[in-house]
Amino acid sequence: MLNIKNLQVKLEEEDKQILKGVDLSVKAGTVHAIMGPNGSGKSTLSYVLSGREGYEVTGGSATLDGVDLLEMEPEERAAAGLFLAFQYPVEIPGVGNMTFLRTAVNAQRKARGEEEMSAAEFLKVVRAKAKELQIDAEMLKRPVNVGFSGGEKKRNEILQMAMLEPKMCILDETDSGLDVDAMKLVADGVNKLRSEGRGFLVITHYQRLLDHIKPDVVHIMADGRIVKSGGPQLALEVENNGYADILNEVA
Ligand code: ADP
Ligand code: MG
Ligand code: MG
Repeated sequence: MLNIKNLQVKLEEEDKQILKGVDLSVKAGTVHAIMGPNGSGKSTLSYVLSGREGYEVTGGSATLDGVDLLEMEPEERAAAGLFLAFQYPVEIPGVGNMTFLRTAVNAQRKARGEEEMSAAEFLKVVRAKAKELQIDAEMLKRPVNVGFSGGEKKRNEILQMAMLEPKMCILDETDSGLDVDAMKLVADGVNKLRSEGRGFLVITHYQRLLDHIKPDVVHIMADGRIVKSGGPQLALEVENNGYADILNEVA
């Protein structure tokens, strides 16, 4: 499904190489976790895949179901089935959360040549999914993320993901800043979306999220590369011993 080969990325503004050859392949139906020290390039990878500006791809490739992602506009990548839950969700004053979600859902349907969701159907679906994530109906009416708590913003990211039903979901530290209960809600939201045809890339600092979202593969990223991959026990190793041992081992 998601196939990244020797991906190299630098900042557009500065001569600074951030990704130095990332290789990663996520099959449909699997959950991959990426852990790694701060500044290793985890967010950069998710930004580059989703099409954020400011980065220049200097080598390598990234495809989703064989289609070159790097040549597409961000909205085309979304229509192709890619979703990124932000590490720092943005507030959008003046745009109602419900309007935002409905516009996104219908834009994606249109791009795929599907019929729009009717207002009544949308309302039914969004209310049900919001309830599962314990998102208050009142929050659906407020401007996107404005005045939301950290936990509410992260749950709102998962609501967007649930509404858009992407093929490939990337979660960038969606668990950071959440208390245990909110983290469990996020994990439950992800687990409900797990399916044969869908892949996940879960970027996290914490093993405890991975207790709830059981990953198939865990990768360690350091200095712009994936330096080690393994099973869920790799996350436990990191939790217990930090990154130093692994980094020494691969050095
Ligand atoms: P991580 O998510 O693993 O903590 P990031 O991808 O956020 O790492 O950052 C990787 C490196 O690239 C860091 O050294 C960071 O400071 C740098 N970096 C990323 N984006 C920018 C930017 N827009 N301007 C300057 N430095 C950046
Ligand atoms: Mg970071
Ligand atoms: Mg980051």
